[in-house]
Amino acid sequence: MASITIKGLTKSFTGDAKQAAVSDLNLDIKDNQFITLLGPSGCGKTTTLRMIAGYIVPDAGTIHVGDQLVSSRDNVVSPDQRGMGMVFQNYAVWPHKTVYENVVFGLKIRKTPTAEAKKKVDETLGLVNLRGYENRYPNELSGGQQQRVALARSLVVEPEILLLDEPLSNLDAKLREQMRVELKRLQRSTGITFVYVTHDQAEALALSDQIAVMHGGKLQQFGSPHEVYSKPANRIVADFMGLVNFIPGKVLAIHGGSGTIEAGSLKLIAPVPAGTGVGDTVEVAIRPENIKLTTGGAASAKITERTFLGNICEYYAALDSGQTLRVQTHPTQVFSAGDAVAVEIDATQCSVFRNQSA
Ligand code: ADP
Ligand code: MG
Repeated sequence: MASITIKGLTKSFTGDAKQAAVSDLNLDIKDNQFITLLGPSGCGKTTTLRMIAGYIVPDAGTIHVGDQLVSSRDNVVSPDQRGMGMVFQNYAVWPHKTVYENVVFGLKIRKTPTAEAKKKVDETLGLVNLRGYENRYPNELSGGQQQRVALARSLVVEPEILLLDEPLSNLDAKLREQMRVELKRLQRSTGITFVYVTHDQAEALALSDQIAVMHGGKLQQFGSPHEVYSKPANRIVADFMGLVNFIPGKVLAIHGGSGTIEAGSLKLIAPVPAGTGVGDTVEVAIRPENIKLTTGGAASAKITERTFLGNICEYYAALDSGQTLRVQTHPTQVFSAGDAVAVEIDATQCSVFRNQSA
């Protein structure tokens, strides 16, 4: 059983609980899942991962692996007794050892017989597409290949859990995307529980079964990629999970779970959070892909800027009420700066957040 249960996990480096690096974190990580800790730099991802690994003692809270308590304030099972592997951003392969020597290391420590070790290294190099590279040194490999050596070195000892801290962030964009696919395949084919750390929301969406969005040491939302993207729990999550337009508005009417909202010059019927009332001030979060620009209808905005991005075109459209919307369209839809356009919004896909003071 390689499920991980985290309860009330807290760690402060300063002794000030208000500025805790990780604060009252609760997470239920199921066996054989790819889960990602996602959030901006400094939000507590690495601290969380290092507590799971056993390198940092929590101030409060517990971590269980299966039924076994592995971390609490008074009791920390040492990292090498946890059945976990770890992969870092900076590869951390030994420059003076060959690929084979790097990968076989963990087996040698475990005194695995040579023939068996050889077989396991070969299988693992197969998994990460590095067969044939056994005798190369790291400086004869690309960054992506070095990171695969680091992966193989962790995988060869057959951990139940693999912890990965921004393992792709030193690779160039194209390689990063290729490695994403490989990591996902690797997780599926090995059945190892992956706990992955990244600040890159696209990476998190592409890889994960579940994403834990963190901010300021606190868990903001734990859900599937689709949930955190389409149904963000709060403004912080909405803002972090990709481009979004926030338009301030006022609730004019409530009908069931929806509200009629006047937002600038837009009037929208959108799902609203429970407890929302008529007169509340809100913010409507609108993703660029849920906005359609057309000509011919009653114009309500003016194009102020156009950026061609290859597969999409991005426009800034100024509403009559003054706010600017960021919109993305198919590149064949070409408007020019100054064009008057009608704005159509798929409000069913919008998120509405009540202002805290309301
Ligand atoms: P992330 O990995 O999300 O970028 P970290 O977990 O590394 O964030 O850091 C969370 C917070 O804890 C940051 O404010 C960071 O400065 C602080 N921090 C992390 N490690 C230490 C440390 N060893 N000593 C003091 N402060 C630390
Ligand atoms: Mg970090």
